[in-house]
Amino acid sequence: MSITPDQVSDLRIQRYNSTVHQLTKLHSDLMVLRVKPDHPLRPHKPGQYTLLGLGNWEPRLPGTQDETLQEADEVKLARRSYSISSSVLNNQGLVGEPQHKDWLEFYIVLVRETNSGKAPSLTPRLFMLREGDRLFMGDKITGAYNLDKVSTDDTVIFLSTGTGEAPHNYMLQQLLHQGHKGQILAACCVRNKKDLGFLDLHQSLAQKLPNYHYFPLTTRDLDASGRKRYIQDLIKDGDLDKANGSPLDPAKTHVFLCGNPAMIGVPEKNRETGEYSYPKTEGVIEILEKRGFKADKGHHDSGNIHFEEYWS
Ligand SMILES: Cc1cc2nc3c(=O)[nH]c(=O)nc-3n(C[C@H](O)[C@H](O)[C@H](O)COP(=O)(O)OP(=O)(O)OC[C@H]3O[C@@H](n4cnc5c(N)ncnc54)[C@H](O)[C@@H]3O)c2cc1C
Repeated sequence: MSITPDQVSDLRIQRYNSTVHQLTKLHSDLMVLRVKPDHPLRPHKPGQYTLLGLGNWEPRLPGTQDETLQEADEVKLARRSYSISSSVLNNQGLVGEPQHKDWLEFYIVLVRETNSGKAPSLTPRLFMLREGDRLFMGDKITGAYNLDKVSTDDTVIFLSTGTGEAPHNYMLQQLLHQGHKGQILAACCVRNKKDLGFLDLHQSLAQKLPNYHYFPLTTRDLDASGRKRYIQDLIKDGDLDKANGSPLDPAKTHVFLCGNPAMIGVPEKNRETGEYSYPKTEGVIEILEKRGFKADKGHHDSGNIHFEEYWS
C-alpha cells in the first residue's frame, strides 16, 4: 500500500458519511450491523436495499483471500448492495414499528474467498469494523422487492438461503405490525445450524403466532429427523401446503425468494427465440411454475413469485 496514514485520514473524512452504530457478531463469519448515516434517512420499503462501502485502503481480516490491488485502485471505495434487515422486535420485545429509527440494520456473512480467483473486496474489510468506526452508506434506497402486491388475507412465503433472510425479516416485521391475517411461512436454508442467526427469534414467534411458521433447514448439519434439506425439498415434500392448511393457491399466495441464485432458479431468455428455459439444477421457480405460479419477469410484472439474487 503506497498511501500514507495522513492520506488515509483525509480519505476517510472525504468518502465516509456514516458511523457503525451497533455491531453484533453472531459468530466469526456472521454479523448484524447497524449503520447511522450523517444524512437523514430516506423513506423506504421493507425488502429494499442500499449500498455499503469501505475504502480499499482499509485493513482486511486475516485469514481471508489475499487481494492484489493496482496502485490507482488503492484510493477507491469497494461498494456492494445490502438488503435492509431487521431484528423484528424492539427493546421491549414487541414487534417494532418499521422505519422510526435513525439507523439501518444489515445482516452480513463474511465471504472468505471466491471461486473466481478475484478476492472478495468488501466483507473482509467490513468484518474488521468496530462500533464508532466510519464507513460509506448509499443515500439512495432502492429495489422492487417489497410487499406492495400483498393483501392482508394472502399467504406470504419467504424462502431464503443464508443472509437472504435479511429483507424477509424486515418484511415480516411490516406484516406483523400491520396485523397480517393470512398465513406467513418462512424458511431459511444454511450449511450449519450456527448460520441460522435468527433461529431463536423465529421459533419464539412461531410459538406465539398461530399464522406464523418457520422452517430452519441445514445442508451439512443433520436436522432433528436426521435429514439434510434444501428449500426445494420443503416444497416437494408438501411441508408448506401442510403448514398452510391447504395446497398453496397461486391466486392467494405471494412467494419471495432471496439469496443463492441456484435456489431461486431464474429462467433464462434465449436472445434469438425469446423463449425462457429453466437452469439445469431445478430451482424453486421451476417447481412452483409447474404448480401454477408465475415468476416476475420485470419490475412491473404481476407475477406471484418475487425474487432477489445476491450474486449471478
Ligand atoms: C440486491 C442485493 C442485496 C444483497 N444483500 C445482502 C445481504 O443482506 N447480506 C449479505 O451478506 N450479502 C448481500 N448481498 C451480497 C453483497 O452485495 C456482496 O456481494 C457480498 O457481501 C460479498 O461482497 P464481497 O465484496 O466481500 O465479495 P465479492 O467480491 O462481491 O464476491 C462475490 C461472491 O461471494 C459470494 N457471495 C456473495 N454474497 C454472498 C452471500 N450473501 N452469501 C454467500 N456467498 C455470497 C458469491 O459466490 C459471489 O460470487 C446482496 C447482493 C445484492 C445484489
